[in-house]
Amino acid sequence: NPFALADPAVLKGLLRRHGFTWKKRLGQNFLIDARVLARLIDAAELRPDDGVFEVGPGAGVVTRLAATRARRVVAVEKDACLRPVLAEVLAGLPHVEVVFADVLKLRLPDVWGRFHDCAGVKVIANLPYYVTTPILFHLLEAGVRMDSIVVMVQREVAQRLAAAPGSKDYGALSVAVQYRCSVERVLQVRAGAFLPPPEVDSAVVRLRVRGEPPVAVRDEQMFFRVVRAAFATRRKTLANALTGGLEWSKELCAAVLARAGVDGGRRGETLSLQEFAAVADAWAALTA
Ligand code: SAM
Repeated sequence: NPFALADPAVLKGLLRRHGFTWKKRLGQNFLIDARVLARLIDAAELRPDDGVFEVGPGAGVVTRLAATRARRVVAVEKDACLRPVLAEVLAGLPHVEVVFADVLKLRLPDVWGRFHDCAGVKVIANLPYYVTTPILFHLLEAGVRMDSIVVMVQREVAQRLAAAPGSKDYGALSVAVQYRCSVERVLQVRAGAFLPPPEVDSAVVRLRVRGEPPVAVRDEQMFFRVVRAAFATRRKTLANALTGGLEWSKELCAAVLARAGVDGGRRGETLSLQEFAAVADAWAALTA
């Protein structure tokens, strides 16, 4: 029964037998709620010929479930003390491999070779909250194919990932992720679903990686510079944020915004992806 480890007594016994001690700094909160586990694994929409890349397998409860539904699973775990635990939990599953490394230091294109015979590649991650954002960008910017990322994050981060323009949670993270993915909130998760319970509530989010960005941008680097500058100073007008953050002259800024059809008196946090793209494109056209 792949859900057996969701029983806290079974999980604790397993960890104790292997002399495991918790490392709080690695965000080790293991899932012990079978309903949440089932929803998490369902959200990944695995097909029998898929490959799964898992970040942070912990005791392997999600890993083992993924193994029943996919052709190949590669899991990356930073804590080598989990080696004997994972060896026991994943015994007899030759299509599952655990790499002991910090995912942020791993060259993902090298790992992706393991998925050569897989139709799709899906990422599942119950992430340590202190490195959620860097890990998401490491995945999205690695230049490797992936269909989706199903990720457990702190509830506030889920709100930021899914936020709409003008809402208080909308920020550079929302734009950067929504540019690459469509974002769906799947499930809210209470702290009691984990052993030990974290101090915050959590949520499962599904990011479907887009084949193409939702807006055409001439100069992607400038697009992201505009986004960062617009959100760097939340109380300033867009015009002031851009002249200050990007060192554009007042004249250039006025011309860019006029061409983009965006009012410089607005706050940066009210712009849509399309409007950020229009500003970056207007800059590219005027300075070409
Ligand atoms: N997937 C398991 C579960 O759902 O029960 C464990 C989730 S736990 C929140 C996060 C796991 O990520 C821990 O096992 C921790 O050791 C591991 N981890 C933390 N930082 C990591 C990193 N930079 N790279 C890879 N794994 C990491």
